[in-house]
Amino acid sequence: MKKIYMDNNATTPVKQEVLEAMLPFFREQFGNPSSVHWAGRMVSGAVEKAREQVAELINCSPAEIVFVSCGSEGDNFAIKGTADALKEKGNHIITTSVEHPAVLETCEYLEKNGYDVTYLKVDRDGMLDLEELENAITDKTILLSVMWANNETGNIFPIEEIGKIAKKYKVRFHTDAVQAVGKIPVDVQATNVDLAVISGHKIGAPKGVGALYIRRGTRMTRFMHGGHQERNRRAGTHNVAGIVGLGVASELAKQNMEKDYASVRKLRDKLENGIRELVPEIKLNGHPNPDLRLPNTLNVSFAYIEGESLLLNFDMKGIAASSGSACTSGSLEPSHVMGAMCVDVVLAHSSTRFSLGADNTEEDVDFILQELPPIVQRLREMSPLYNRDSISCDECRVIRRV
Ligand SMILES: *Cc1c(COP(=O)(O)O)cnc(C)c1O
Repeated sequence: MKKIYMDNNATTPVKQEVLEAMLPFFREQFGNPSSVHWAGRMVSGAVEKAREQVAELINCSPAEIVFVSCGSEGDNFAIKGTADALKEKGNHIITTSVEHPAVLETCEYLEKNGYDVTYLKVDRDGMLDLEELENAITDKTILLSVMWANNETGNIFPIEEIGKIAKKYKVRFHTDAVQAVGKIPVDVQATNVDLAVISGHKIGAPKGVGALYIRRGTRMTRFMHGGHQERNRRAGTHNVAGIVGLGVASELAKQNMEKDYASVRKLRDKLENGIRELVPEIKLNGHPNPDLRLPNTLNVSFAYIEGESLLLNFDMKGIAASSGSACTSGSLEPSHVMGAMCVDVVLAHSSTRFSLGADNTEEDVDFILQELPPIVQRLREMSPLYNRDSISCDECRVIRRV
């Protein structure tokens, strides 16, 4: 069976060059980079080279990169590390209602421990109101945490403008850049970002490695206690192979981003326009201007049907997409991102995300455009909402207006 993978916002395959660069670090170069002997020295250089490669991708100095175990750890470290280090200064954190759970649940945890958190709303297109953001800042505000791009809708937030606001009020600025990095330019200097998080497996490196950029001079409480690795910022023996992989993936991302994502963008637009043409009663979730979304992401609701049933039908055809985010699918709750955007509950349940990657082809898109309309039609015919002649419930009225 043909296999089409369009779930690159959930994870990506390790790139061939990345794998090859990693392999020697499992056996021939197995040393602990903290050791002083030859075996340690053999690998400490590789870790430092990876640090340079990651720094290069986001335009910071290598000394500002701390390797962590994943994007979620990076977000936890950035937020809890700030909350603790700045607790004398204040207890207020501002974030958005559409962050990844690694940010949202960390903030909820802090709320239980005496911190106040403002969760900024988004509009129906999933965008923030920067005036609301600015007005939320008080003299107790210690952290502003806004993701660079949203994993479900692909919406890109105006990080440069938010950085200016953070600078104006001297509030520390953290951004979860996991989805943005490697897809669009991410420059932490130009945007005045203090803390930024990257995850390896979203950019062609393996799962279980990530990086946290900490601007020089930023006071942080340690998150992982133990040894003196990472200039005392983060304990734990380095995941050398993973770090080497993240370095090479960062270098490849920098080299190929423009070229790869121009073609990914073309395929995404073709899929988007094709779905609009071929399937009636759909709603695009995210900003209608495709320039304000990541070039690879398309999120659509197909009225009257369950996203989960659509995914199962896709799966039978070898197509991998996702409903809501991978972390929330499996639960029957519609995604918090759709909820925050006031997407009607029934529509939210049918939200389906296609996230393309450099491996996708024109044939993949053609195949989906061929298989999708009959699947949607069949599922709609089975749906009690679709068959109703006279629409009476509120939910249905909302759908009819789509
Ligand atoms: C995937 C993802 C994370 C978590 O990264 P992990 O390495 O899987 O822990 C955090 N934020 C966003 C926006 C993501 O897409």
